[in-house]
Amino acid sequence: MNSRGYAALSAKAALNAFNFERRKLGEHDVALDISYAGICHSDIHQVAEDWGPSIFPMVPGHEIAGVVTEVGNKVSKFSVGDRIGVGVFVDSCRTCECCLKGLQQYCVQGMTGTYNGYERDGVTVAMGGYSNNFVINEDYAVHIPENLPMEGVAPLLCAGITLYSPIKHWKVQPGMKVAVVGLGGLGHMGVKFAAAMGAEVTVLSHSPGKQSDALAMGAHHFVSTKDPSNLKPLVKNFDLILNTVSAELVIDDYLNLLNLDGTLVVIGLPGKPYEVHAGTLLNGRRSLTGSMIGGIPEIQEMLDFCSKHSIVSDVEVIKPDYINEAYIRTINSDVKYRFVIDASSF
Ligand code: NAP
Ligand code: ZN
Ligand code: ZN
Repeated sequence: MNSRGYAALSAKAALNAFNFERRKLGEHDVALDISYAGICHSDIHQVAEDWGPSIFPMVPGHEIAGVVTEVGNKVSKFSVGDRIGVGVFVDSCRTCECCLKGLQQYCVQGMTGTYNGYERDGVTVAMGGYSNNFVINEDYAVHIPENLPMEGVAPLLCAGITLYSPIKHWKVQPGMKVAVVGLGGLGHMGVKFAAAMGAEVTVLSHSPGKQSDALAMGAHHFVSTKDPSNLKPLVKNFDLILNTVSAELVIDDYLNLLNLDGTLVVIGLPGKPYEVHAGTLLNGRRSLTGSMIGGIPEIQEMLDFCSKHSIVSDVEVIKPDYINEAYIRTINSDVKYRFVIDASSF
């Protein structure tokens, strides 16, 4: 299948128009025209090789909302014309304990990433969603509810599920005090979900100008971390802290904000390790843990939750020629609150 997209040809290079081939439609595959593709900070990390060597040329993009154009002859889950979503992975082993539980993101053999990796055949380089079309096995795609706008849905396929999953896992509910660190693409979805589940939500942000937006999204409190002394009154205050920051943080300063048996979930993925003092964990029996996206059943559950509660991402829709500028603005924490590429212009 002929595809038109945007690619980085080498590490840290600017992205430019790029034509490539996708695999032919298999009997369990669906083809889609992409409507919108979100820009996740993980795209930026991988182009920059923040996490180690990447594969180039790279067409990034794992927040894909589109419309089915063709189905293989054994496809039963989708029909032509259906609204379809694709996220961070496009396949997995299907047989390990995690896959059988629908937690494909934790596949023992490793999930097959949407880009910057090889397809299941082990030789074809997977190309992501900054493009006009896509091919995917039907088992790894989800249905997009009819009442939600496609541009606001695209970021749910990564940013949305990545916050929904820990919020469900740690049973966020009324009476819980939840902090979201970093109000970016992931963080703003965390605020919306935690507020919808009835928690008392505090945003901890190093961008004081985001206060009114945070409150409009459902946060009850906003604390600027630009002045570290603002954290002092919050010591031993939260049941759950969701850290979505893309850069290194002094994690001890945030662990100290946890109440008895509180949990800090690491979600942001900077390239460098954190330093943690054992004493900070012992005091208050605190937990430090992590969470990675969500499995296919939970992605569908999240979209259905969004449909019921009219939740979508706050987006800035851009044309492909603005991608490089959008990368710079995202790195500078200057995005409200997700850039989404209008794929009709590829
Ligand atoms: P983003 O839109 O750039 O948001 C990150 C936010 O972190 C910024 O808006 C900013 O919020 C805060 N921040 C950035 N630099 C900072 C600094 N130097 N000091 C303090 N705060 C800073 O990024 P994103 O797309 O939400 O992704 C966030 C991170 O999660 C990335 O590392 C990404 O790779 C990772 N990620 C993980 C998963 C997973 O499965 N766990 C999935 C997707 C992405 P304020 O302006 O409010 O301070
Ligand atoms: Zn992502
Ligand atoms: Zn598996």
